[in-house]
Amino acid sequence: MNKRLDGKTAIVTGAGRGIGHAIAQELAATGANVVINYATSAEGAQKLANELQTEHGVKTLVVKADVTDFDQVGEMVKQALDTFGQIDILVNNSGITRDKTLRKMSKEDWDQVIAVDLTSVFNCTKHVLSHMLDRKSGRIVTISSFVGQAGNLGQTNYAAAKAGIIGFTKTLALETARSGITVNAVCPGFTESDMLMNVPENIRQRILDRIPMARFGKVEEIAACVRFLVTEGDYITGHAISINGGIYM
Ligand code: NAP
Repeated sequence: MNKRLDGKTAIVTGAGRGIGHAIAQELAATGANVVINYATSAEGAQKLANELQTEHGVKTLVVKADVTDFDQVGEMVKQALDTFGQIDILVNNSGITRDKTLRKMSKEDWDQVIAVDLTSVFNCTKHVLSHMLDRKSGRIVTISSFVGQAGNLGQTNYAAAKAGIIGFTKTLALETARSGITVNAVCPGFTESDMLMNVPENIRQRILDRIPMARFGKVEEIAACVRFLVTEGDYITGHAISINGGIYM
């Protein structure tokens, strides 16, 4: 029988839309109470909270916080602890792209992507870690990308951030392995969300031609992988799990 998450609490960053939204749905369907973080998708976050409460009978907390801001993240974690008393699962999902070849990439393009895609992972993990260490229990999953493993034209900023996540994950996994905490990364390939839909149609078609399975990933497929890691993955730590239709092996 599949393991459940009843009574557990998960924080999912960037859960108002896209992959984060699907992860929050999946964890709630498995019984977890969910802290729904958002930066700009207030409506999506609130709608999701209502849906999870009605459909799955779980508790939710919607928190606006910019994950690049250490203090805002600290406030979010405090609110989560005040509300639920415990945090069992952290899913670092928020991410952005600012694609340009390095020649054309501005310092701002670089800094923004590193802040949202990598520094946020430090901010969120740092704020939940003491709590998890004290309880000798925790599941940390960060959404990296196959781009962090393979590289991709026009994405030096994004590839650096996503590769950084993998190094962070392996190192923290070592530091927490004896404390009941697992730390893993999930590396999606091109997945159907706003991030992909913002890529011009002609480039999307070229991307599709590169994918051995000849289709994009679905947000639900990434969410199922996260659920597996936090329910069944008791002996999995320090890994970067590929879920990419074969685009990188
Ligand atoms: P998306 O639809 O563009 O969603 C991005 C999410 O990040 C939104 O929920 C957004 O929140 C959140 N976010 C952005 N800046 C934030 C900030 N400063 N503070 C808090 N949240 C912030 O993209 P997605 O495809 O769902 O991406 C989710 C994750 O998967 C990202 O880490 C991405 O790099 C990774 N990924 C995606 C693909 C793909 O092909 N789609 C492939 C590999 C990896 P608001 O809407 O509230 O602003």
